[in-house]
Amino acid sequence: MNRRTQVGIIGAGPAGLLLSLLLARERIDSLVLESRSRDEIEATIRAGVLEQGTVDLMTEMGLAERLQREGAVHHGIELRFDREGHRIPLSELTNGRAITLYPQHEVIKDLIAARLNQGGHILFNVKDVYLSDVTSHQPRLQFIHEHEQMELQCDFIAGCDGFHGVSRVSIPEAIQTVFSRFYPFGWLGILMQAPPSAEELIYAYSNRGFALVSTRSPELQRMYIQCDPQEDIANWSDAMILEELQLRLATTDNWQLRMGPIIQKSILAMRSFVTEPMQYGRLFLAGDAAHIVPPTGAKGLNLAVADVRHLAHALALFYRENRTDLLEAYSTTCLRRVWRAEHFSWWMTSMLHRFPDDDPFQQRMQRAQLDYTVRSRAAAMSLAENYVGLPFDW
Ligand SMILES: Cc1cc2nc3c(=O)[nH]c(=O)nc-3n(C[C@H](O)[C@H](O)[C@H](O)COP(=O)(O)OP(=O)(O)OC[C@H]3O[C@@H](n4cnc5c(N)ncnc54)[C@H](O)[C@@H]3O)c2cc1C
Repeated sequence: MNRRTQVGIIGAGPAGLLLSLLLARERIDSLVLESRSRDEIEATIRAGVLEQGTVDLMTEMGLAERLQREGAVHHGIELRFDREGHRIPLSELTNGRAITLYPQHEVIKDLIAARLNQGGHILFNVKDVYLSDVTSHQPRLQFIHEHEQMELQCDFIAGCDGFHGVSRVSIPEAIQTVFSRFYPFGWLGILMQAPPSAEELIYAYSNRGFALVSTRSPELQRMYIQCDPQEDIANWSDAMILEELQLRLATTDNWQLRMGPIIQKSILAMRSFVTEPMQYGRLFLAGDAAHIVPPTGAKGLNLAVADVRHLAHALALFYRENRTDLLEAYSTTCLRRVWRAEHFSWWMTSMLHRFPDDDPFQQRMQRAQLDYTVRSRAAAMSLAENYVGLPFDW
């Protein structure tokens, strides 16, 4: 069975779904192909920190009604080291900008509902997506949906299928340059049924390794501890995790972690990854399909949003005015922000984690950096500006 659309979108993550909505606003037709079920993608626990620009864009598009009601606006974060907390007043340092805590799977639910309400098309549970004729003016997507082999003719393809998708690997290796770094540690993440232990996120550096106190809701807390990336989660009992959190977060003024049952735990590897360019013929990569950051800077979802905002704008000018300059500049435009976020995420990661081969000199360097960040307004402002997110046209 054959179908036609202007933009074929692979992947119904934040990048693909938001792109379909941005294109609809420009009256550009699209079809989203997603390999998983709707239930599965609406239940996958991932990011939680939205930059100011992401929230503003969703608000402007009429997608933020629940986000405004249920999201928690945070005006600061805490850096904790040497058993003391230091607040970085994000909003005071960035002319009132802030972050909003609202889980990625709730964003996904809102985007899917909005797109389906518009009469938009998302095909879930598709299999064997295959890209062809990508360098022609009529690229095609072949796939199986409900046991039927289908072909979608497109003007453009948006590869929004995450790090393990098919889009990036359909670009010949010879024209790709890949930049990658693995970190010698991972994050053990838990979801815990307990009230919040703090009003703002806590990023803690300790001799035992990094810890992060985040939140999901008044009843559900998200926490992470640095661990060996090869570690088997079965080796970590709930009691061990809670004890490690308490040790890493301990303060001289006897701060208390509020605890409850752990309802989910997993280990996440940490890496940085960028492929250049983000375009090949009429295939445009966006989000995790093109770049990965370690989660320390909370940038992954927000970068995906920035990519598709640029892509939708470039496609709108193509259809409206036959302009190709923004499409040609897409990769260069996105990569400027991508590399800024890569640097920020690497910098936060390097400052806050214990490295297996570190020595007293490196530990002193980390402490000097932390001390400077909390004592210098200029240094704190730099962290704050990056954390709340640079403007889209940066
Ligand atoms: C534990 C964790 C915490 C994080 N915390 C933050 C945070 O606080 N802030 C932040 O900004 N980011 C964070 N991130 C990163 C963020 O979750 C990702 O960057 C974001 O999901 C990227 O969105 P995406 O749409 O590009 O890709 P994805 O969300 O990966 O979506 C890709 C979609 O494509 C589908 N797909 C894959 N292959 C195919 C195929 N062959 N055919 C069809 N469909 C396919 C997948 O099923 C998926 O639904 C975190 C990530 C993790 C893992």
